[in-house]
Amino acid sequence: MNSYTVRRVHISKTAQLDELAHECGQLYSQTLVFFWRTVRHKGIWLFPKHLKRLFTSKQLHAHTADACVEAFFAGLSSWRERRKMDRAARPPHKRKWYFRIEYKRSALSLKDGQLRLSNGRGNAPLMLEWPWELPQTVVIHWTGTQYEAIATYVLETQGEPRGERIAGIDLGEIHMAVSHDGTQTHILNGRLLRSKRQYRNKLIEHLDKRISRSKKGSRRRKKLIRSKHKQLRKLKQQIADIEHQQTTRLVSTLYREGVQTVVIGDVRAIRQNTDVGSTTNQKLHQWSAGSVRHKLTYKAQRLGMLVALQEEARTSKTCPQCGHKRKTAPKGRVFRCTNKKCGFIWHRDGVGAMNIRYKYRGEFGVPHVVAAMAPAAGIRHLPHTRVAREQSRENVCVGNCTDAAGL
Ligand SMILES: [Zn+2]
Repeated sequence: MNSYTVRRVHISKTAQLDELAHECGQLYSQTLVFFWRTVRHKGIWLFPKHLKRLFTSKQLHAHTADACVEAFFAGLSSWRERRKMDRAARPPHKRKWYFRIEYKRSALSLKDGQLRLSNGRGNAPLMLEWPWELPQTVVIHWTGTQYEAIATYVLETQGEPRGERIAGIDLGEIHMAVSHDGTQTHILNGRLLRSKRQYRNKLIEHLDKRISRSKKGSRRRKKLIRSKHKQLRKLKQQIADIEHQQTTRLVSTLYREGVQTVVIGDVRAIRQNTDVGSTTNQKLHQWSAGSVRHKLTYKAQRLGMLVALQEEARTSKTCPQCGHKRKTAPKGRVFRCTNKKCGFIWHRDGVGAMNIRYKYRGEFGVPHVVAAMAPAAGIRHLPHTRVAREQSRENVCVGNCTDAAGL
């Protein structure tokens, strides 16, 4: 299955871009007005093909003009979808002075590090510095402060699964993710991420206090607000960076160990045993997932692994060894079986991952032999280093320890 990746590039404001965006805005608005007028007067809901023939532009590439019409219909169908849940949802109805400019593959060519975006015969093309490869599509939009080009690339799956193992993954607050694939347990430390989040909350509180003390409309206030946004932006990037590094390391570890299927615990009761088509699948993952889940999903898929969501009720309370269910959730980071004959002790989130895996395989809540398991190994975040450390140096937890993986 192919997935997509994007590259975002800021481009400076020019008269040419303004004109193109305005031309797209006009096409979009004409489409919108004509469409609703036809509905009102004739009771006919037109199709994109009718309006594409009607609204063209002498200043744009034919496919760019088509994209403006298509954008209206995309808005229309997303309203139809939204309407099922939200009665107050409104269809697209606002005219746009400026609108995004979309270039399809047919309008793009790359030569000597310059991307040429055609605006149709007889018009000056848009030229962009482009030290990268040729994208599939380019969309140029206004971010509120500047223009941004979003280039889309098709990512072909880079790998084939190397084995048939199934790994369960438990996502959590303390540990970003814990995986278990039958013998190996890996822990992604979430401590650094948590500290960043906590710092972020404190920072917001602190700066808001200072802002509220300053005089409304004053230069000082504006300066404080600017500084707040700047600091928050930086933190956001740091958080994303940590998540990226950690999830990449976990996925590549699982891939190396021959995992074919990754089962991610889902707090909501969405079962995904039935495949609903790749587009919907992807939507479901992105929608139900926090960003960690989303990153794990597309990174695993890129390596040719299968990703499934598994409803995770009772997975943290049930003993994987004897199947006994605890009445209360375990306190602290360690799972202890309350069945006196069993007394199984293991890393708490490791138990969650183990049970998610069992659940997916339909063996949840029954006794298992869990003696042959390797100790839980932590995967630590090493800021800006790509050095592969030996796993054993990070293995702190050995079986019945209380402070698993030294976290
Ligand atoms: Zn037990």
